Amino acid sequence: MNTPSVSNENQEICPKCGSKLGEVVITSSGKKLRRCTAGMWNAETKKIDGCDFVLWLPFEPQTLDETCPKCGASLVLTMTRFGKKMKKCSTGGWDATKKQVIGCDYVEWINGTTEPLDEECPECGAKLVLYTTVSGKKMKKCSTAGWDREKKQATGCTYVHWL
Ligand SMILES: [Zn+2]
Ligand SMILES: [Zn+2]
Ligand SMILES: [Zn+2]
Repeated sequence: MNTPSVSNENQEICPKCGSKLGEVVITSSGKKLRRCTAGMWNAETKKIDGCDFVLWLPFEPQTLDETCPKCGASLVLTMTRFGKKMKKCSTGGWDATKKQVIGCDYVEWINGTTEPLDEECPECGAKLVLYTTVSGKKMKKCSTAGWDREKKQATGCTYVHWL
């Protein structure tokens, strides 16, 4: 019998308890994971009943419909193991033996950050959040603001204040 490896993404069996692993679940931040089927989320105790093993899957890079401003090759969307998203050139890579970047080194970070603020929205009274864009610009916006992907329009409160 083989020794189970924790980092194998094709793994079907929980290394902790030997039960089957569940379906792939995608979190709101785009990370993929599989939970042990012997574990169940208990909404009352806010804890997992049974086995709490989680297998995190690597983010699969997606080829984008955008070209690299440096060399014109296509860009790919990828994610670091810390959950930061970035666009990088598809010709770029990492030579592990020489420890250096090979090909095109174009990289563009694409996550802005959101921090909750202890301030109320002057328009609706909900809490405000501080949003920092990738380029470092800061703005306050209403925490109820969202984006309806189907209707392609903003939802919630539209209050925005650039700092
Ligand atoms: Zn398990
Ligand atoms: Zn490039
Ligand atoms: Zn508001």
